[in-house]
Amino acid sequence: MGDRAVENPAASAKSSIGGTVSCEHLAGEAVELVRELYPICRSITGDGVRHSLEAIGRLLPLQRFEVPSGTPVFDWEVPREWNVREAWVKDPDGRKVVDFSEHSLHLVSYSTPFRGHVPLEELRSHLHSIPEHPDWIPYRTSYYRDYWGFCVRHRDLERLAPGEYEVCVDTSLESGSLTYGEAFLPGESPREVLIYTHTCHPSLANDNLTGMAIAALLGRELGRQRTRLSYRFVFGPGTIGSLTWLNANERTLDMIEHGLVLGLLGDPGGLTYKCSRDGQAPVDRVAAHVLPRLSRRARLMSFEPYGYDERQFCSPGFNLPMGRLTRSPNGSYPEYHSSADNVEFIGAPYIAESILAVVKMLDVLESNRTCINLAPKGEPRLGKRGLYGSLGGRSPASSETALLWVLNQADGLRDLLSIADRADMEFSVIDEAARALEQAGLLRTVEWGFEKVGSRH
Ligand code: ZN
Repeated sequence: MGDRAVENPAASAKSSIGGTVSCEHLAGEAVELVRELYPICRSITGDGVRHSLEAIGRLLPLQRFEVPSGTPVFDWEVPREWNVREAWVKDPDGRKVVDFSEHSLHLVSYSTPFRGHVPLEELRSHLHSIPEHPDWIPYRTSYYRDYWGFCVRHRDLERLAPGEYEVCVDTSLESGSLTYGEAFLPGESPREVLIYTHTCHPSLANDNLTGMAIAALLGRELGRQRTRLSYRFVFGPGTIGSLTWLNANERTLDMIEHGLVLGLLGDPGGLTYKCSRDGQAPVDRVAAHVLPRLSRRARLMSFEPYGYDERQFCSPGFNLPMGRLTRSPNGSYPEYHSSADNVEFIGAPYIAESILAVVKMLDVLESNRTCINLAPKGEPRLGKRGLYGSLGGRSPASSETALLWVLNQADGLRDLLSIADRADMEFSVIDEAARALEQAGLLRTVEWGFEKVGSRH
């Protein structure tokens, strides 16, 4: 495995949002859920999305929303709903050479209905393959152009003999609705963390059944805990789904304190965090603190207007404080958007590390605060307050260092995250030190959340 090995095999975090989340156990459950959802044909609309949301709704209190076709959403509109009954191609001898029932990727998503006989030369303009990977089926869509097509293994394409082929594309493209699911988990504060993940891909495991499974399982775990912030998990199609959600929720967007777009979290690549549009959001600071400590392979990238639904959340009219967490970003691995992105391609250890990354990030979002030292003249004597020795299993030396950093830096202006950064210590160690000092009456929280940018100057 070499440099592809996950550096944190004991992926279990003591979560300050309560209890212990076993990331390895959750990863095993995530793989099972991916396996269950993999055969379903999803698209930006249709019954496949509804069936997938039913499975997710077993884990968390999911409310399903149906937005009618034709509903205007900013510069777009909700498309017609697409469903498939059957789709296949028969060769001149009457043998099925392509069959949607064998793999949902075989049919170009949003293929218009068609029934007839076509010669091979004409059929070829409706067939897609990947010559460099002759055993893989590509994933293709045609959402906004009337077209029908099939995706095939290049090896099979090359075997097709000349002659008349019978084609059946028994699909419906009719006025219906776009479906998305939303789970709201109230915390002590109405201020929210928004988690968005896309649901529109058919049989592809990493992109994005891993995002759907991880979001669903994290939502279940958070729902069992008392949290300071409220959490909103949205499962919707890419682009048109986030636009539709933004359109429906525009009046309450100012409740969003932090957000994350989750996706592609099970491949062997390193964790990749993409910053919010401003690059200055609290969630950006949190990622910069958490991810490099979790893995040397973690990468932070600045915002660019290309990618997943952060494009909509971070468009200038919304400019929400949202980042994106993936492993390999879109398109940067050969299996991307092909049948090779299957359950074998993803790995439980990678999923566990991704879950751990999100849990650690949420822990900082939950627990970060600004404190003030109540005995700032000289160092207070820690021994007589029973503060020497180890905090929660840390060595006495690192516990004492953390206590001293907090006492020195807690000036009522800096938050614990900046103290952790300055001390080059894990946030959880600084957080624990601050809790101990508060209990000893040496420290007081003046404000929960994040220091305002530039407030130190
Ligand atoms: Zn994709």
